[in-house]
Amino acid sequence: MGSRAGALEELIQRNGGVAVIDGGFATQLEALGADIKDPLWSAVCLIRDPHLIKQVHIQYLEAGADILVTSSYQATIPGFLSKGLSLEQGELLLQKSVKLALEARDSFWRLIQNSGDNNYSRALVAASIGSYGAYLADGSEYSGDYGPDINLEKLKDFHRRRLQVLVDAGPDLLAFETIPNKLEAQALAELLDEENVQIPSWICFSSMDGEHVSSGEEFKECLDVLNKSEKVNIVGINCASPQFIENLILQLRKLTKKLLAVYPNSGEVWDGRAKKWLGLECCGEKSFEVLAKRWHECGATLIGGCCRTTPRTIRSISQLLKNAS
Ligand SMILES: [Zn+2]
Repeated sequence: MGSRAGALEELIQRNGGVAVIDGGFATQLEALGADIKDPLWSAVCLIRDPHLIKQVHIQYLEAGADILVTSSYQATIPGFLSKGLSLEQGELLLQKSVKLALEARDSFWRLIQNSGDNNYSRALVAASIGSYGAYLADGSEYSGDYGPDINLEKLKDFHRRRLQVLVDAGPDLLAFETIPNKLEAQALAELLDEENVQIPSWICFSSMDGEHVSSGEEFKECLDVLNKSEKVNIVGINCASPQFIENLILQLRKLTKKLLAVYPNSGEVWDGRAKKWLGLECCGEKSFEVLAKRWHECGATLIGGCCRTTPRTIRSISQLLKNAS
């Protein structure tokens, strides 16, 4: 890892070989009363309810998260423009997503230092960058089907300005999330080089079958691309069902030497047509927490939760993983 990766390495070492990522963001915003029924999804709160965003960050810090993921997953410049905002306003909102997380981290850390509580580490802030499919908001982040008109250069152009604005806002890491195909992984790796990004990045894929990335392409093809990049420090899986994670880690472990990150969803199933969550369909009697311990043993270093996981999930996995190590 490059020199700027030092803070992450230190954090992992201090925790005995693990870093806990926070949990579901939109889930928790809704629990606090935010209305996120909007094509911008949780990013709409950057406009309407920034105080709730900060509150969610604080709740995850209290629960023991070592890495806060910002509220910018579905925040894109074209998305803001289509809401009638100016380019400048859109860029300010992207900056704000990083600023809110940094402020939450700093104020929580001051509190911890004053209290002398040594159960916490100073958290890092990862700027979230959702896939192109997340911007389209048509479910293609889970199919990888971007249509015939999209190519490498178009994907780079789509991601470029947001990446620049987020990096300039001063996060500790970049978190590319729910990447569904090889083309976008390649576009991101090339973009990190072209923009000469100096902070560490993770690229996490979605997987619908627990064997392949969502497009149906092999993980090997995707990892062959990312292994060549020095700018991608961490690879992994997010927003897949927890039942698939152990096998995916074992598969990825054979394909790369990079650190592995996993933050699956709760295992509940999203019914896209009815736009609601169906009951828990996986995991049997095994809880998310018990599974998380296995994921660590199988070789994942960064572990957290995605959709429908809560501060309660993060609190148990943080206690379990840090006590074990
Ligand atoms: Zn998710």
